Amino acid sequence: MQSIKSPLLSGYENILHGYSTRAGGFSQGACRGNNLAFHVNDDPQNVEKNHLHFSFHLDYPLDKLVRMEQVHGNTIKIIDKEFDFASVPICDAVVTSLKNVPLMVMVADCIPILIYDPHKEVIAAVHAGRAGVFSKILPQTIVKMQEHYKSRPEDIVVSFGPAIHHCCYEVGAGVEEEAQRYGYGFALKRTDKGYYLDLLAIARKQLEALHLPSENIETSRYCSACNIDIFYSYRAEKKSCGRFAGIIMLK
Ligand SMILES: [Zn+2]
Repeated sequence: MQSIKSPLLSGYENILHGYSTRAGGFSQGACRGNNLAFHVNDDPQNVEKNHLHFSFHLDYPLDKLVRMEQVHGNTIKIIDKEFDFASVPICDAVVTSLKNVPLMVMVADCIPILIYDPHKEVIAAVHAGRAGVFSKILPQTIVKMQEHYKSRPEDIVVSFGPAIHHCCYEVGAGVEEEAQRYGYGFALKRTDKGYYLDLLAIARKQLEALHLPSENIETSRYCSACNIDIFYSYRAEKKSCGRFAGIIMLK
């Protein structure tokens, strides 16, 4: 088992975090490696084993793990003491101030986003693909932290984990037009082959519009589609693949 740390989040002692990789997992075939998703046609017993071993590796309580049934929407769920830990909420962002409650976001090209407010001691995990970025799930999560926990944007730190970068994210005319309509033309690059979209640049811009300092926002150097030996990539593996995860927990 192996995990990749965010240099930015590693500077904070009160949280545990990490991004999983394929290394050391039990899954075979298209999901070969440490697949953490149950919905991708993998042997559920192997997925269970992957979860168990990864929770040992990072040292978080598996019985308190909050997973999401991610639907590319913009529903944000607050995890409080009433939460049923046997359930899997249908949402694309979870926020909590509870200690020893790990939040997990699963991806294969979409951006896994881990958020921490070290002043109010609040964390969040966000799933943002193209639809999520366009529907503003990330800035809405920051606003939720402001409303519910009195977080201040200038205190919040954000890590964008391994995700598809613009080198590999070619988009068709429909998405290109949609991006222009949303005012995201700055993130489109035209080449001889077509248009390429930089979702990470849009996500960063959305945070800066809420006055998060640019030095509080970190982007992983890994493109998931360029590195299918390390991560899973829906695009590069032709839609048949597992999911890796970002995890964050207040200690
Ligand atoms: Zn790439």
